[in-house]
Amino acid sequence: MGSVGAKEVPVLLSADGRRIDGRRLDELRPIRIQAGALHQADGSAFVEWGANKVMAAVYGPREVHPRHLQQNNKAVIQCRYNMAAFSVDERKRPGLDRRSQEISKVIGEAFESVVFAEEFPRTSIDVYIEVLQANAGTRCAGVVAASVALADAGIPMVDLLPSVAVGKIGGAIALDLKKEEDNFGEADLPMALVPQSGRLVLLQMEGHMTEAELAQALDLGVKGCRSIHETMKQALRDRYAVAPLAGGSA
Ligand code: ADP
Repeated sequence: MGSVGAKEVPVLLSADGRRIDGRRLDELRPIRIQAGALHQADGSAFVEWGANKVMAAVYGPREVHPRHLQQNNKAVIQCRYNMAAFSVDERKRPGLDRRSQEISKVIGEAFESVVFAEEFPRTSIDVYIEVLQANAGTRCAGVVAASVALADAGIPMVDLLPSVAVGKIGGAIALDLKKEEDNFGEADLPMALVPQSGRLVLLQMEGHMTEAELAQALDLGVKGCRSIHETMKQALRDRYAVAPLAGGSA
């Protein structure tokens, strides 16, 4: 531990390039995705990513509530990101705060870029993201969970939407920050990528980095997204895998 004033700052990057959990700078935390985790929802997914646990449920296309949000030429995508009161060490005040509202908005807008909403005019596609356990990168875990849940609900999309945060720790660009790295690092930059087109549809940044570091961060994040994309596709394959017919040839 180093110390800055009264605040204890952990050493985020060792001399041999290892992070506090032993990862290299370009390594993701372990990620497990279960498509179709809930029976009630039209589509759902549960994501365990490092110490994050996030559930997403999708309903629709269905009637729009509140009615005045209805659009005649396309579906509205209503996204609600919520962090459970028990999801963090210190009890979080329950309910929708400014942070949750902002995250709900940016995630909803990201999905507007991939969902074929014009196929379902005058309807709503409702996306619920519940963070049950939080350890940084929950909006990215939320995007990943919601994306698999949308696919599980059969909503037509251009592509799945992998997402990851890149950041700067101990002066170096690192993939997929965990809590201590997010808290004590120099920058945090969540992003979401449409793999097919290479378009970024969510990009935010807290902290500071140089132009060259930003380019490096985007490159690392895109690679991370492409790797997560494979895990997302595999989760959907596992969900819809058809058992081979008995007696069929291998
Ligand atoms: P993200 O989870 O997408 O990285 P932030 O950067 O805002 O979003 O938050 C980083 C982490 O800080 C969260 O994943 C969570 O572990 C913690 N955190 C966020 N909001 C709160 C809160 N109100 N109370 C306690 N911890 C929080």
